[in-house]
Amino acid sequence: MNRSASDSASWGNAPRADTAGSDLPFLPLAVPTITEHEIARVTDAVRSGFVSSVGPYVEEFEKAFAELVGARHAVACASGTAAIHLAFAVLDIPRGAEIAVPDFTFVGSSNPIAYVGAQPLLVDSEAETWCLDQDLLVDALEERLRRGKPLPAAVEPVHILGQPARIDRLVEFCQSHGIPVVEDAAESLGARWSDGPFAGRHTGSAGTIGAFSFNGNKIATAGGGGMLTTDDAELAARAKHLSTQAKVPDIGYLHDEVGYNYRLTNIAAALGLAQVERLDELVARRAHVARRYDEAFAGTGIVTPPRVPGFDATYWLYSVLVPQGRGGDYRDALWQHLGDLRVGSRPLWRPLHLQPPWKDSARLGGQVAEDIFTRGLSLPCSYDLTDGEQDRVIDGVLEFVGARA
Ligand SMILES: *Cc1c(COP(=O)(O)O)cnc(C)c1O
Repeated sequence: MNRSASDSASWGNAPRADTAGSDLPFLPLAVPTITEHEIARVTDAVRSGFVSSVGPYVEEFEKAFAELVGARHAVACASGTAAIHLAFAVLDIPRGAEIAVPDFTFVGSSNPIAYVGAQPLLVDSEAETWCLDQDLLVDALEERLRRGKPLPAAVEPVHILGQPARIDRLVEFCQSHGIPVVEDAAESLGARWSDGPFAGRHTGSAGTIGAFSFNGNKIATAGGGGMLTTDDAELAARAKHLSTQAKVPDIGYLHDEVGYNYRLTNIAAALGLAQVERLDELVARRAHVARRYDEAFAGTGIVTPPRVPGFDATYWLYSVLVPQGRGGDYRDALWQHLGDLRVGSRPLWRPLHLQPPWKDSARLGGQVAEDIFTRGLSLPCSYDLTDGEQDRVIDGVLEFVGARA
């Protein structure tokens, strides 16, 4: 696959212009794997004439996806952000309500909160999983109960970087207080719990609604797209209805509420289906790359991603933290050094409380999120990355760390 045809404009997926003279091949951060299988499915979709949001691949994709993640229903959407927006819409989150979300996440988690006129309650991460700290949140909510203060209208845990979040206590609390749980599983397709109350379950199937993304850099891509999953038939039907401009079937242009144009196209569904059919292979390759990085960085001070017993992560965007006690300057110098070597890497997300739209949002903690942001760097982990290419990345990191020990 010609990588220049991929999403080369995104940060980390294009060589730095000042390294153009080098003949070292550039190693992108994360680009999709496209095989004859994907090409055959997409060609079939185009040939069929069903190129838009009507067509057999949309339904086939939904059916296969629901089965894969263990949900009763799946509704294909134009993006992961759209899936999260639809989740809040079908849950009838009132304007002005509060939704708890991790401080350390991509803005695709928080923008839909604003779309429905709600406010985020930003929750710090726990150091062990880098995901939302459920104890921090549940303790604060129990304190509110004691003081007679209102609870959030929904909670939105995020399975960060393919790592299942620890949400057993949170889900139990929410169930006993009637609070819906919307899991942002945009980054965690293929990740599961293998121990505890959710043993055997896929991320995105433990709460009320799960939301997934098939953006270009996600573990499986549809070019762009998303999926809403739920066991609740009514929520699924309403999500599908709202995603198609709330058009009432079989009656000429009757729209019974304000809807959205959020359906996935048949072409995108064909690509998404083909990728999901290869998911085991895609996840296995990530695990191989992650294992090699973990081994290479052991004992160097570089902090490798969480490995939590009972939580089967997929290492979507393999990310490390620079050694404890080092800061953003060190991380930026490593990023620069890898760029010099024509290796694409990328810092992690700036926590939401440091973003202009959410700078005044209510917040619980924030130090862990800031630390992960300051010290975090994602390394190349594309499906097509060879062991030899990965060794170039490893050597670059070890050389940098060794020179500054
Ligand atoms: C990618 C992503 C989204 C949004 O998905 P899109 O398909 O890009 O709209 C939402 N949340 C998280 C955590 C993501 O990484």
